Amino acid sequence: LEYEDGNFERKDYATIFEVTNKLYEDNLKDEKLQYLLDRGLTLESIKKFELGYAPRSDKQIAHLRDQNISFEDCVDIGILAIDKDKLYARQIERITFPIRNHLNKLIGFGGRTLKNSKDIAKYINSPETKLYSKSKVFYGFNHAKEHIFKKGNIIVVEGNLDVIMMHQANLNTAVATMGTALTKEHIIQIKKANARAILCFDGDIAGKKAAYNASILLSQSEIDGGVVIFDDGVDPADMVKNDRTDELYALIKKPINLVKYALNYIASNYDLTNPIHKTKVLKECVEYLKTLNPIIANEYKGYLAELLNIATYHIVLG
Ligand code: ATP
Ligand code: MN
Ligand code: MN
Ligand code: MN
Repeated sequence: LEYEDGNFERKDYATIFEVTNKLYEDNLKDEKLQYLLDRGLTLESIKKFELGYAPRSDKQIAHLRDQNISFEDCVDIGILAIDKDKLYARQIERITFPIRNHLNKLIGFGGRTLKNSKDIAKYINSPETKLYSKSKVFYGFNHAKEHIFKKGNIIVVEGNLDVIMMHQANLNTAVATMGTALTKEHIIQIKKANARAILCFDGDIAGKKAAYNASILLSQSEIDGGVVIFDDGVDPADMVKNDRTDELYALIKKPINLVKYALNYIASNYDLTNPIHKTKVLKECVEYLKTLNPIIANEYKGYLAELLNIATYHIVLG
């Protein structure tokens, strides 16, 4: 049994992952299950995305031992971790989100705490392993892949729950970067699918900034697409949960063009009524446009001129 990269035997890893995933899935009940239902997930979604709940660490270790599973292998794939010479499960008393690659093989877990405390991480994801690299993974890609290729679009969101709620609303091309920036490795996958990218990041400062950085990378890679902006503090999962799917569909139908979004984002950091600021915006926008294919950049000259209320001949791209 071979996985995609590397030639080493990984049969055991696949088995360990499936055993662990089953343990978590079987352990999702009572108030843990209720938590997900309260967040608006259907039982169908919970099953499709194989959500679970990780028990206490000692229970997991005992279970793995019962199955004759090597602890060393578990550490290799990030299911167990060693801290001060002691073995621990990485996911402890958290809702679990198994992460599968495009070949549908388990490569890691995401885990969300049910506690509402600033002192603990809301999410804990798989560490970097031979199988899992956070700069490559798109959560939900296993479910979204065929739809992305068929429909020619990919919806990129921040979080696990955003993906699940999008799919629940039949927006089945949604995948998540899981809170990390969109990388060149992600771009390669989008290119392979020849898909338009629709960015649906959170409606907060971090989300808008992440959309800006992603817009730059995508436009530089000559990928078409746009950005959807949500109200402050709202994310796609909230839109679906709060019965705002019609609004969501309308937003996704008419996203703001990636290049226009990037230009607007740059301008938003300045006061355009101040002439000095205006020259700074112009400079920054031109710098950005110069990183694009010149033919594409040229298409946005008029737009930028209008945005800054200046003559086109002030925009010199090369
Ligand atoms: P929820 O709705 O449950 O609060 P969210 O997805 O809206 O979750 P965000 O804070 O918007 O949470 O974060 C987006 C994504 O970033 C998460 O789904 C998760 O994958 C990742 N993430 C968030 N916080 C952390 C963290 N402390 N460590 C690692 N990854 C994180
Ligand atoms: Mn966020
Ligand atoms: Mn969010
Ligand atoms: Mn959320």
